[in-house]
Amino acid sequence: MKRNFSAEQRMVSIVRCNGNVEDAVVKAVKLLGGMDRVVKPGEKVLLKPNLGHPKHYTTGATTNPEVTKALVKLCYEAGAKKVYVAESPSWGYDVKEVFQITEIESVREAGGELVSLDETPFQEVEIPGARYLRKVRVARLPFECDKVINIPVMKTHMQTTVSLSLKNLKGLLPGKEKVKLHMVRTDDPSMPGLDIAIAEYNTVVPCHFNVMDGTVGMEGPGPADGEPVNMGLILAGFNRVAVDAVTSAVMGFNPQEINHIRFASELGVGPLHLEELEVRGLRVEEVLRRFKPAPTVPEVGPNIKILKGKACSGCLGTLSTAVYRMAKASEISKVPELYILVGLDVKPPEGAERVLTIGNCAFKKGYPHVEGCPPTGWEIVKGIRQFIAEKKPSTYKSRVVDQDS
Ligand code: SF4
Repeated sequence: MKRNFSAEQRMVSIVRCNGNVEDAVVKAVKLLGGMDRVVKPGEKVLLKPNLGHPKHYTTGATTNPEVTKALVKLCYEAGAKKVYVAESPSWGYDVKEVFQITEIESVREAGGELVSLDETPFQEVEIPGARYLRKVRVARLPFECDKVINIPVMKTHMQTTVSLSLKNLKGLLPGKEKVKLHMVRTDDPSMPGLDIAIAEYNTVVPCHFNVMDGTVGMEGPGPADGEPVNMGLILAGFNRVAVDAVTSAVMGFNPQEINHIRFASELGVGPLHLEELEVRGLRVEEVLRRFKPAPTVPEVGPNIKILKGKACSGCLGTLSTAVYRMAKASEISKVPELYILVGLDVKPPEGAERVLTIGNCAFKKGYPHVEGCPPTGWEIVKGIRQFIAEKKPSTYKSRVVDQDS
C-alpha cells in the first residue's frame, strides 16, 4: 500500500567517508538542509547509537563513536539545550562494559550526556491498532526529549535479514522488555513474529532523524558475529523506513522483501519504494556492495543438529548466537553427535542418545534442559558446556529445572 509522504520524508543522502568521519556526517546532514532543520534552539535531543553488544565499532557490530560525537556537536551548533546519548544494550550484557568497549564515553568530550536507559524511568505505551504487540514498556527519556536522532549501523541479522534504523530503536526498551518483541508469534508463516513486532513498535516510538553509520558495516551472521565490511559511507534521512530502504538496496537486498521494513511501511511509518524516494549525493548504484546474508540457522558443523519446533526468535536468536560463537572458538567441532531441541512440539529423533532441550517450550521430562524464556546466550553456552563435560548425559541437570518435576 503506497501512502503520500512529504518531500522531506522521502529524502535520503549518501556520502563517502574516507577518513574524516565528522566531515562526512556534516555533509550527509547538509545535503538534507542542515541540522537546523531537525533541531531547534533550546531543544533537548536524544541520540540513539547502536551499542547493543560489547564490541568495538571496527567489528561492524556497533556505532562508530566518531559518528555519534559529530552529531552531538551538530545538535549543539543548532542550539540544542541538552544532548543525551542513550542505550539499553541487548539483554544479558553489562552496560558499563558495553560503554567502555564501544568507546562511546568519548561523546562526553563534545558535551554529550551518556545515559544507561536501564537505569532511567520507563512508561507503558499502548500501540493503537496493533494486532500482536498491544503494549510495551519504553524508556521515558525519548518521550521527554524534543527530538530523537537514530544512529544505527549497516549490518545483517540472522532473524530479520538486516538490522538498521527500525531495528535499532529496540534499544529504547529497557532490559528484558526487548525480549517481548522476540516472543511475538503468529500463525502466518509470511508474517514472522519479530518482524511484525518491530513494525508495530515503530508506530509509537519517536524518531525524527536517522544517520546510518556505514563506516564499518557487518555481513554474514550479524548482528554481532559477522564479518566487518569497510564501506566508508554515511547515509542520512528524516524517515526511518526510507533510510532503511535505501541502505538495504546499498547492501544488495530488495527492501520490499525485508519483512519488518515492508510491514512498517504498510503501517504508515514511511515510504519504502525506491522510485518514490529522492536520493541526494551519491547514487545507490555507485556504492552498491552485496553483503553476504546472515544464515537463519548457524552453520556449526554436521555433528550439531538443531531441531526447531514452534520456536519464537527469543530462543532462536540467542541459541544461534551461542552455538555460532562456540563453533567459532572450536568448542563444539569435535563433540559427538548432539541434538539441540528448541520450541514447542519438537521431538528428539528415535534412538537419539545425546539430546539437549533449550528454553521452557522445549522442556521434556527426562532430558537435559536449559531453562529460560528465553535463556540468555551465556546460559545456553554454560548448558552446552556442562552437557559436553558430563560423562553420563542422562543424569545431567540444568541450573534450575529438576527433570523429575
Ligand atoms: S521458551 Fe523460547 S521459544 Fe518458547 S516462548 Fe520462550 S523464548 Fe519463545
